[in-house]
Amino acid sequence: MTTIETAPAAADERADAPVLEALHVTKHFTARGQLFKRGPKRVVHAADDVSLALHAGRIMALVGESGSGKSTFARLLAQLHPVTSGEIRYRGATVTVRGGKSLREHVSRVQLILQDPFGSFNPVATIARTLTRAVRIHHPKASAKEQLRIIDDLLGQVSLRPARQFTEKYPHELSGGQLQRLSIARALAASPDVFLADEPVSSLDVSIRLGVLNLLRRLVEERGVALLYVTHDIASARYFAEDTSVMYAGQLVEAGPSETVTQHAAHPYTQLLIASAPDPSRAEEAAPRDIGQPPSLIDPPSGCRFHPRCPFATERCATDAPPVFDLEDGQWAKCWLYADDAEAAGKRAENAVAYGLGEVRQAGRRRDAAAGPATTTPTPGRAAAPADAPTPNTEGVPQ
Ligand code: ADP
Ligand code: MG
Repeated sequence: MTTIETAPAAADERADAPVLEALHVTKHFTARGQLFKRGPKRVVHAADDVSLALHAGRIMALVGESGSGKSTFARLLAQLHPVTSGEIRYRGATVTVRGGKSLREHVSRVQLILQDPFGSFNPVATIARTLTRAVRIHHPKASAKEQLRIIDDLLGQVSLRPARQFTEKYPHELSGGQLQRLSIARALAASPDVFLADEPVSSLDVSIRLGVLNLLRRLVEERGVALLYVTHDIASARYFAEDTSVMYAGQLVEAGPSETVTQHAAHPYTQLLIASAPDPSRAEEAAPRDIGQPPSLIDPPSGCRFHPRCPFATERCATDAPPVFDLEDGQWAKCWLYADDAEAAGKRAENAVAYGLGEVRQAGRRRDAAAGPATTTPTPGRAAAPADAPTPNTEGVPQ
């Protein structure tokens, strides 16, 4: 009988080896708009030297403002764009996809879930037709009866029951939350071991976001899939993901366990994101703060790309790109604040005052480029949810 279980990991694999990994991945788009046809070639630096590892049964949040290159990076992992340089590895082997069979193979392992579920369904096909198509692609030998059973099972896994209530409907007859569950069911048809969820709840009503996130969490835990959770909402990363990576202008600037990155943010950009996130403990909606604009990726700033917006920038930030500084607990930051010298120590003291930190942070350990790319080493187990976290096990009623 056809199964929809995730294939077990190869026996010789180390338990903590990444499932999917990006190593020094760079993506430059050549802008070819009307405007630029005659002018000099413009290059969009959408991703620069990004290294990130996804592990089975864990969630990694990729956080940053709109335009920072998050979706581009997810698409690179999915191999929907070729990389300009660097490498994507699946279970240790370099992925080189040139269309056809190798692309189908990669797509069946690595599934992308998009922000807008309405845009990802054929409006003139019933849900049954859309799901049957997905099931046929990934289970070509299943009989018609088996296909129906698989569809029933997929809908059950995303808590859409009874299945008959959904299969004969058209996308416009369903809510955003129901459609997002269906797009997850469709992704499950491929028995993937990686989900790349690009702002999976951003277009949904606030009241149903938690249910969809908890569904994804359950699938990660039960099926051991690795999940990249792309979001502009750093507050949700704390509750939802074990690890968080922060992206600014096409580069990762900080990463580590979510609890550490959100409660003890090291990079001034992460600190800015946190300070500008809505705080649910404030009764009234705070007036939106002007936090400035991300830079153009066509001509990104020299040195540290954040330096024009950074209150703690020094001269070297404008000229020298900061290396990785390893901090405590697996956290790292690409920021000169953590250099081991007097100027940086002075700036760290200013930073501690500005952010009301109890004490001035220590300098980091500068990572030698030869020591390998900056990826987050997974901490064992899931970070304990803070007491004020939403109840993790309620998936809510699908609406
Ligand atoms: P995010 O998801 O963080 O909002 P994106 O990855 O969508 O960011 O975009 C990053 C940058 O890359 C933007 O400046 C965007 O205009 C540019 N970009 C994305 N896709 C393309 C493309 N196919 N061609 C040219 N530029 C692109
Ligand atoms: Mg995006």
